[in-house]
Amino acid sequence: MRLLLHICCGPCSAFPLTYLREHSVEVTGFFYNPNIHPYKEFRKRLETAREFARRSALELIVDDRYTLEEFLSNALTAGKGRCSMCYELRLRRTAQYAKEYGFDCFSTTLLVSPYQQHDQIKNVCVKVAREEGISFSYYDFRPGWQQGVQISKDMELYRQPYCGCIFSEKERYMKKRSVNR
Ligand code: SF4
Repeated sequence: MRLLLHICCGPCSAFPLTYLREHSVEVTGFFYNPNIHPYKEFRKRLETAREFARRSALELIVDDRYTLEEFLSNALTAGKGRCSMCYELRLRRTAQYAKEYGFDCFSTTLLVSPYQQHDQIKNVCVKVAREEGISFSYYDFRPGWQQGVQISKDMELYRQPYCGCIFSEKERYMKKRSVNR
């Protein structure tokens, strides 16, 4: 089975790739994440994903379009639906690429994180799979989260401190500030 795996970052790819290879799935990585802000952080996570792929012998396709203004405008319009909009943007593009280039299915490393909205990611994947005419392979990778953290530490990969967008960066550091007071 040829699977196109959406990769949100290098560290989150560690366990899913290990798991899928152990189950004889042929994996190709796909990096498309215009939700990462600011731009220097985007470059850093992209370079880390590339480093991880190189050291893991993983083919990595990169769509490095960085539609910051469009993302911010959509995020502000979406309000509380911001993360759903963000998941759909990235996963629809993944589904379209998988369909266009003849993959059997797609999935995402977002399904490894206990900090992401797992059920919402799954629902978005099911929806875009149906609309784009390609299979979605669902995996609950979360039991392997700690193993993935350890692999990324052993590889000395850069591990980001917040989800991606400037809104999540604010939430992360404002929380820390108020706790420290
Ligand atoms: S918090 Fe994360 S998932 Fe939600 S909009 Fe920001 S980058 Fe996307």
